[in-house]
Amino acid sequence: MNQTIAIIGSGFSALAASCYLAQSGHQVTVFEKNASLGGRARQLKKEGFTFDMGPTWYWMPDVFEQFFSDFGKSPQDYYDLIKLNPAYAVYFGPSEVITIEDTLDKIKAAFEREEKGSAHKLQKFIDEALDNYNIAIKDLVYRPGISPLELVTPKTAKKIGQFFSTISREVRSSFDNPKLIAILEFPVLFLGAKPSNTPAFYSFMNYADFGLGTFHPKNGMYSVVSAMTQLAESLGVTFKTNHAVESITLQGNRATGIIVNDQSLEFDYVLSGADYHHTETLLPQAYRQYSEGYWNKKTFAPSSLLFYVGFDKKLKNVEHHTLFFDVSFQEHARCIYDDPQWPKDPLFYASFPSITDDNAAPAGKEAGIFLIPLAVGIEDTPELREAYFQKIVDRFEQLTNQKIQKNIIFKESFCLKDFIEDYNSFKGNAYGLANTLLQTAFLRPKLKSKKVNGLYFTGQLTVPGPGVPPALISGKIVAGLIEQQMKQ
Ligand SMILES: Cc1cc2nc3c(=O)[nH]c(=O)nc-3n(C[C@H](O)[C@H](O)[C@H](O)COP(=O)(O)OP(=O)(O)OC[C@H]3O[C@@H](n4cnc5c(N)ncnc54)[C@H](O)[C@@H]3O)c2cc1C
Repeated sequence: MNQTIAIIGSGFSALAASCYLAQSGHQVTVFEKNASLGGRARQLKKEGFTFDMGPTWYWMPDVFEQFFSDFGKSPQDYYDLIKLNPAYAVYFGPSEVITIEDTLDKIKAAFEREEKGSAHKLQKFIDEALDNYNIAIKDLVYRPGISPLELVTPKTAKKIGQFFSTISREVRSSFDNPKLIAILEFPVLFLGAKPSNTPAFYSFMNYADFGLGTFHPKNGMYSVVSAMTQLAESLGVTFKTNHAVESITLQGNRATGIIVNDQSLEFDYVLSGADYHHTETLLPQAYRQYSEGYWNKKTFAPSSLLFYVGFDKKLKNVEHHTLFFDVSFQEHARCIYDDPQWPKDPLFYASFPSITDDNAAPAGKEAGIFLIPLAVGIEDTPELREAYFQKIVDRFEQLTNQKIQKNIIFKESFCLKDFIEDYNSFKGNAYGLANTLLQTAFLRPKLKSKKVNGLYFTGQLTVPGPGVPPALISGKIVAGLIEQQMKQ
């Protein structure tokens, strides 16, 4: 029997779930508090420049292909995908750059130039990473996180040691060069925790990086939001923007609908793709599964200070994705996870989509996105934002050997307060809940409420975790769980 389903939020996981549920014939309505769809992947347009406000790295193209193929489509039906070459560059000091190109052979050659014998070690490391990728991304990650037994397969049994070792230890057992170590530890940062706190099994992220490569959808990551919205609408999903859900209504312990813009609307099921903690505040206390104490003890993925900058000239000595790892990673990580505070000397990341994509900036100009990862829950003031902009621009000028201060047409910032205000994010987190050993799979907040019948969750705070590909997978898994309950 076809059912009515309210989805709260329009991030990638909610968009994915809406497609699967509508495909099964249900009547799906998505309620988004903001004026545009896509959640943290919104777009900023200003003076002819276009910026992705959230994700910029398109990794694991196979996951996107899998999603669209579930609907008889492919990404190419909606957007052009460009494989970046180089994938990215990493600065370790003034004019001291390692460039990661688009094939493993070229990357091995770059490694060999830095450390003799490292090409062979890299091949071995990536072979193992590929094996882990096939186990994790082709199989495990699609499991609902209900029971620990989901992780026990003949293949994972052979890898048990890798769940109790860390990426940090694994990388250091093969490589000595600090630059190569930093590059190999970079991909797991997408999972939101320190490499020294991330199981070695997660080296599948290194295969995503070096084995599969980095892509750019023409017109930016927002093209994926547009594609999924188009697909959802073609399947019959209704979207309501500027609709902030105020509460989830109950009859006994059964979800019966939502209150939104002062209107009470009835639905058979409620699925929330909004931040998990916020969703539970839409319920009476007795129906929340996790206490404030629970959330406060969790390891959150970082927040970020972001700047979207329009430059009146093309910049030199940078790539589409450029990482600035010229200061201590350990010290910055300490300020995010161990002793939350603004780091004195921050690492940062910059993206210049207009290097690849003419539509990102007017001719002869450059669009720049700058990102400093920060701890959640720390102070956020206009003065701090400005001071940190100056810090990174000064370093940027020195490292890339060019002046840019006078070429800034405008800059917009986005930080903790905006994450809270715009997305109802817990403590201003940008990337959800980190994937540490104790916050993996069945140890994450559940997709199905244990206290409210007919209420489900999806997105980066639940299973499987942070990132766009996991969000697509999260939407698919939760849609499957809802279907299962309907059949019971
Ligand atoms: C700055 C940044 C950079 C990133 N970079 C990358 C990257 O390069 N590659 C990558 O793969 N991933 C990246 N990520 C992570 C990735 O973007 C996220 O994991 C993913 O987009 C989260 O999707 P989600 O489905 O959990 O929902 P979200 O995007 O969190 O969306 C939740 C939605 O719910 C809405 N909402 C909240 N409360 C309510 C309410 N009461 N009523 C109605 N709506 C509500 C919010 O407005 C929001 O639209 C990045 C994230 C950020 C923030």
